[in-house]
Amino acid sequence: MNQTSTANMSSTEMWQSMDGHHLHPFTNPNDLLQKPPRIIESARGVYLTDSEGNELLDMMAGLWCVNMGYGQQDIIDAATAQINQLPYYNAFFKTSTPPAAELSALLAEISPAHMHHAFFTSSGSEANDTVLRLVWRYWDLLGKPEKRVVISRKNAYHGSTIAASSLGGMADMHAQGGIIPDIVHVDEPNWFARRCELGGDLDREEFGRQVAQSLADKIEELGVDKVAAFIAEPIQGAGGVIVPPDSYWPEVKKICRHYGILLVADEVICGFGRTGEWFGTNYYDLKPDLMPIAKGLSSGYLPIGGVIVADHIMEVLISQGGEFNHGYTYSGHPVCAAVAIANLKLMIRENILQTVRESTAPYLQSRLRELGEHPLVGEVRGVGMFGALELVKDKDNYIKFHKDTGAGIICREFCFENNLVMRAVGDSMIISPPLILQQADIDVFVERAWKCLDLTQKAIA
Ligand SMILES: *Cc1c(COP(=O)(O)O)cnc(C)c1O
Repeated sequence: MNQTSTANMSSTEMWQSMDGHHLHPFTNPNDLLQKPPRIIESARGVYLTDSEGNELLDMMAGLWCVNMGYGQQDIIDAATAQINQLPYYNAFFKTSTPPAAELSALLAEISPAHMHHAFFTSSGSEANDTVLRLVWRYWDLLGKPEKRVVISRKNAYHGSTIAASSLGGMADMHAQGGIIPDIVHVDEPNWFARRCELGGDLDREEFGRQVAQSLADKIEELGVDKVAAFIAEPIQGAGGVIVPPDSYWPEVKKICRHYGILLVADEVICGFGRTGEWFGTNYYDLKPDLMPIAKGLSSGYLPIGGVIVADHIMEVLISQGGEFNHGYTYSGHPVCAAVAIANLKLMIRENILQTVRESTAPYLQSRLRELGEHPLVGEVRGVGMFGALELVKDKDNYIKFHKDTGAGIICREFCFENNLVMRAVGDSMIISPPLILQQADIDVFVERAWKCLDLTQKAIA
């Protein structure tokens, strides 16, 4: 604590003064000295309550994770019961726990038909570290240890550990930590960015095929005997909700098959209903070899992630023998696993995927496109419960704002002030709301978002 007295402080001021001791993730500490953080104290459904009593519509589901919304009693009860029964035991030395066992079986049921095993972690970053070790182990066991290179995409997000941030394609992260060897990046299928860059016409589907071809070119350049896998999010999330052209995934799938390299679909955001299917992989019919998962697996109530493993990889791990020298203290943590089970059972019982597909997502996507009529919005992207509004200087001529304008950040601040949580990725305004969002909430969102777009336009005019 600072040496200031807290006697005359409001509760907001008191928490903010304590928070002065908190080093925040992905934040400039100096910004918080200028303006302390907003304190979120409680939440119900799709609304957050801050320490001043404001109610904010959470169109980001926390950080893309609170898929079933806040305050679900079944999930709370499952955590309480399990922490009483057995708060911790591990799965290292030929032991398991009922929640770890049940969760792996439940995941086998909802995963694509060729995947029946799960490795557990505490996060998406750890899941992607695990991916790297599984990929290398697989090729090692097949007698091809020289197959080491994993190809990823620029502007991908795969987490913040050293391996996961290396797999990711975020230049700002690489600049602060370097990247580990044997990871290379190819272009992302971001049609709008390329269209703005090049000017002139750029056919969307032709562009999708070209970007896919750049993966094949990279494999040829490196030599297929050196390449182990390609990793990608079905739809890039933190990169700005980049929905690829329809031509992209079928080509990429063909290329991975043709060269016999593993396809890793990072389902940390796309999984668990975001696209209206269990996995983004189902939406695009990807048939991947490995699927890292996290976030929506537990609706964020407790930290848990994992990697879902295809049968043919399991067969190699089993038949070639030997220990997989990898694991976390909290792999399959019983309380986290119990929470994930309760969350998945709730999703099934409430038929949430069907509701999303048939009702919520079509309504959200159509209303999102209305926001596309705003003069500031150059492109609307979105699938399922996922969307982005791209703020531009001149929508008719595809001209973006100069990056120092900070249009996205300005808009995000107006949203916050107007009790709406949208995230800015550059000048893309992002939404990834809880799946339990109702039409009335969507109407609130559109009304507040339009107002904030107006405010932003005035502020930067
Ligand atoms: C968030 C995210 C991760 C990292 O997950 P953490 O739980 O934050 O470590 C990995 N991949 C994708 C696609 C993500 O969005």
